Amino acid sequence: MSLTYWCERAWLPDGVADDVLVEIDGTRISRIEQGPPGSAERLAGLTIPGLANAHSHAFHRALRGATQEGRGDFWTWRELMYEVAARLDPDSYLRLATAVYAEMALAGVTCVGEFHYLHHAEGGRPYDDPNAMGHALVRAARAAGLRIALLDTCYVSGGVGASLSGVQLRFSDGDAERWAARAERLAAAYEGQPDVEIGAAIHSVRAVPPEQMPVVADFSHRHAAPLHVHVSEQRAENAACVEMYAATPVQILHERGALGPRSTAVHATHLTDVDIELLGQSGTYICMCPTTERDLADGIGPARAACDRGARITLGSDSHAVIDLFEEARAVELNERLASERRGHWPAADLLAAATGAGHASLGFPDAGLLVPGAWADLVSVRLDSVRTAGASGAEAIVYAATAADVHAVVSGGRRVVAEGRHVLGDVGPMLAQAIGDLR
Ligand SMILES: [Zn+2]
Repeated sequence: MSLTYWCERAWLPDGVADDVLVEIDGTRISRIEQGPPGSAERLAGLTIPGLANAHSHAFHRALRGATQEGRGDFWTWRELMYEVAARLDPDSYLRLATAVYAEMALAGVTCVGEFHYLHHAEGGRPYDDPNAMGHALVRAARAAGLRIALLDTCYVSGGVGASLSGVQLRFSDGDAERWAARAERLAAAYEGQPDVEIGAAIHSVRAVPPEQMPVVADFSHRHAAPLHVHVSEQRAENAACVEMYAATPVQILHERGALGPRSTAVHATHLTDVDIELLGQSGTYICMCPTTERDLADGIGPARAACDRGARITLGSDSHAVIDLFEEARAVELNERLASERRGHWPAADLLAAATGAGHASLGFPDAGLLVPGAWADLVSVRLDSVRTAGASGAEAIVYAATAADVHAVVSGGRRVVAEGRHVLGDVGPMLAQAIGDLR
């Protein structure tokens, strides 16, 4: 069934155009041309392609506003995060993730990269279906109207050279071979389902010993699927890694075949010049998560330098201290300004491309995030008449003026998910409050 939307303005691959008709056939865009609205459904403001949230841990949303008091650092925050992880089961995770993904849809996200490591029940005991938690996340994404790249995460050690303890037991399959056996079952369950991509993830050098990394990389190569890794978010992680292996995390990933055009290094905050060169030459994506990185006092990563060497950036809201990819996009530029005391490192269009086409490609959906015929039919319309955006135009209006609250219409894979700023599931605030309240 075909349906036509008329966009007051649209951000097309060669720039912003007025009076754009987008014809949708099923889940895909079938035609784009300029013309009068006629009987087409009208989309006011500036319409951009769907946003890809390339790095998410859905359950971290339960920590928003609950971990910001007092002092501390990444490691003290992690203790609080573990307390929430300990309370989740497949039913409560389904409710929480559905609400979190609906919040993402309201912010214009049409695809999420879920870096999923909370696999098993208490003590590491598998559920009757060992992929029950993963299935809950896929159901949640579908209910909220998102595509999902479920990045099934290998997590087998409690730190560099350390054994697992406490809730970490829920993350582990024992070793990479047993992780792969479970991940294969998950991939088989969604074979031929175009809205779900089963990818792989190495949690970090803290959680996967180097000799087990190739097993995870092989899964990615076998399935031509994404491979994501947390990299050098913390200096302490680098120090432990260098002490144990006489190599940085990036060097280890390089040696173990885990870098390349299907791979994403998440954070990549504390890098050496050699690390930057290895990420760039291998064409690895770097997923910047600036609102989380500033919330956790991680530091500012050298994204510009890495991209100048050949890496590509994407954006993620990670811990969901904020779910607003426009804020992530502008923070990439604004952080570079603070670090360098100079302005103008990233054109706004490049940051918007990181949030759309590049993000989708890094999640295994290279045919999304662009307003072109044949692409996934994702349309995100942003108001240009709000108190924040009035007077601004073009990609700059999105990156430097708009917030997620200015998204008023979202079409995801041809399905209208948000209209007049409301999600089809109803009021998302109370859904979140209920799901989070149930965990306390
Ligand atoms: Zn993360």
